[in-house]
Amino acid sequence: MTDPASAPSAAPTTHAADPDCIFCKIVAGRIPSRKVHEDEHVLAFHDIAPWAPVHFLIIPKLHIPTLYDAADPRHQALLGHMLGLAPRLATSLGVVNGFRSLINTGPDGHQEVGHLHLHVMGGPRPWARG
Ligand code: AMP
Ligand code: ZN
Repeated sequence: MTDPASAPSAAPTTHAADPDCIFCKIVAGRIPSRKVHEDEHVLAFHDIAPWAPVHFLIIPKLHIPTLYDAADPRHQALLGHMLGLAPRLATSLGVVNGFRSLINTGPDGHQEVGHLHLHVMGGPRPWARG
């Protein structure tokens, strides 16, 4: 069985940081963010334009542009890690009654930032959107 921790580091070099990518700049600390969580493979931070009382993004530290690019089996552990963090981090932020999790992919998916990110939205309704 594959060691889950080994998958993200096995990513191809094409996932090196993109100097023009706003989320790579956040990972590098060149743009500030309100951090929720950080570990070796991912960063989570509050969305700058929240749809809900709690709205944060979980991103890989690797520059993986879209979910299409994460389809390679080597990224399965990373994707599982991101999904598993969603309920844990939501709970840590006081979300107790459920949440939405969303990955927009490509133009028709209304993906605006070309660095894979998992939206996690929760908190009491009504929400601004969603
Ligand atoms: P998407 O449409 O899925 O690509 O969503 C991109 C999300 O990134 C939006 O919800 C934006 O509000 C959010 N966003 C863009 N720039 C920043 C930033 N500097 N810090 C935090 N969130 C951001
Ligand atoms: Zn990036």
